[in-house]
Amino acid sequence: MSIAALFDLSGKGALVTGARTGLGQAIALALAQAGADIIGLGSSPMPDTKAKVEALGRRFIEVQQDLTQSIDFAGLIDRLEREAFPIDILVNNAGIIRRADVLEFSEADWDAVTQVNEKNLFFLSQAVAKRMAARKFGRIVNIASLLSFQGGIRVPAYTASKHAVAGLTKLMANELAPHGITVNAIAPGYFETDNTTALRADPVRQKQILERIPSGRWGVPDDLATTVLFLTSPASSYVTGTIVPVDGGWLAR
Ligand code: NAP
Repeated sequence: MSIAALFDLSGKGALVTGARTGLGQAIALALAQAGADIIGLGSSPMPDTKAKVEALGRRFIEVQQDLTQSIDFAGLIDRLEREAFPIDILVNNAGIIRRADVLEFSEADWDAVTQVNEKNLFFLSQAVAKRMAARKFGRIVNIASLLSFQGGIRVPAYTASKHAVAGLTKLMANELAPHGITVNAIAPGYFETDNTTALRADPVRQKQILERIPSGRWGVPDDLATTVLFLTSPASSYVTGTIVPVDGGWLAR
């Protein structure tokens, strides 16, 4: 296969959660540029992503669904595959973070973060993987975090959920490989998105973080989207169960 063919997603369908903005939008656009049609799932409308994907000549189906809720994923995926197209690629990108000291952290925040980042990631993957298994092909990419490896501070539910994402990635990779499905994760370092607005607005934390990044800058969403492209393309067919840091060298320090 030529190098171009190894990165070609023509004829594939991809579901990207949290595609409205930030990393999810960049991922959706990279997959569309490589030829995939996109289903974007999020809690609010995403006209900007839709316009940009369609400008690339690809289809964009918007699904408004709040991932803090319990969801009938089997019914949702059944409807999407009937009305849109088969889902060959799933990128579990949507994630939320709540900040409070360990001594103050609330159960409501714990439940919301766990539902979005961990429980619904698993059950959405399960529903999509059943379809992929029947077709003997699939690519699942989970967006993890540096806090899949480290503890962090003031984000207990986020750290717990992102450790869970790392574990689930390996578990799903083990069970789904015989069905032709690869499952990998990407651990983003510090990226310029809405998720990190509070951190970047704090001059002390901003300086501490920048000083620790060997590459000397925050990541921009396209830094990550190209890694997703690799993990969803034919080029990565023998790569499964990995967690790839895209962090400017943070974890190496
Ligand atoms: P972001 O800019 O805050 O975007 C989050 C996305 O998730 C949005 O598209 C949002 O869309 C969607 N989302 C949030 N709550 C949702 C809900 N209840 N239901 C459905 N969708 C929801 O975040 P980001 O920085 O791009 O982060 C994307 C992923 O990367 C997350 O898993 C995050 O933990 C991870 N990550 C980010 C960084 C970083 O430095 N930015 C570092 C490590 C890991 P709606 O608002 O429309 O719902």
